[in-house]
Amino acid sequence: MSLAKRVFDLQQVELSIQDYIKQFEAMDLRIRHNDQFEQAESSLKAAESERAGLEKRYKELDAEAEALRTQLGQIQDKLYGGKIKNPKELVGYEQEAAMLKSSLDKKDDVLLDMMEKLETDKAAIKKLKDVCKAAGDNWEREKADMKVEMGNVRNELNELEKKRGEMLASIDRDALATYEAVKGRKGQAVVKVEQGRCLGCRVTLSVSEMQHARGNAIVTCGNCGRILYLS
Ligand SMILES: [Zn+2]
Repeated sequence: MSLAKRVFDLQQVELSIQDYIKQFEAMDLRIRHNDQFEQAESSLKAAESERAGLEKRYKELDAEAEALRTQLGQIQDKLYGGKIKNPKELVGYEQEAAMLKSSLDKKDDVLLDMMEKLETDKAAIKKLKDVCKAAGDNWEREKADMKVEMGNVRNELNELEKKRGEMLASIDRDALATYEAVKGRKGQAVVKVEQGRCLGCRVTLSVSEMQHARGNAIVTCGNCGRILYLS
């Protein structure tokens, strides 16, 4: 096997390794993050916190209404208790009772609206919880599949790394040094030659370059510097 073929095969193995590493990382990311679930969860949390705020305001307002009711009850007791005979005093209490009643009615209306909103929100939160649960269950299933798949990828990677190690041991140091240097500069170090052209830069090779490339030594393209491989 020519030296160029060996470094070309090494490159193929390294590309496969990179590919599997990317797959592995993508799966790892999908295990750690799930947009659907995270969005559902954040919507649920926002809705719950909004409802908690509304519930708190409802309770405060309800306590205020209750205080008004007590106050109104006390005044009505005075009005209808028969103890107060002074008409002027009675009129004063009547006016006060009317004011309290009006203010109480307003609060009761607001409370009713709030109660309705709380009920609507409760139903919406239940729906969001269902969505969240479904997204979470989906994610769990996906995670389980992913873990199996990651195990497979890990095995493939181990095999390829082993293969790579064997290849590295079988290629001479100078060839490897050239390969690493070109890889560092160009990314893809070894390119095929087709119809007399370097596929790295598409430039037609000279007769002597072609002759050298047919031999066993590592030959680089005079134009782009990549290692030439004639298959
Ligand atoms: Zn070239």
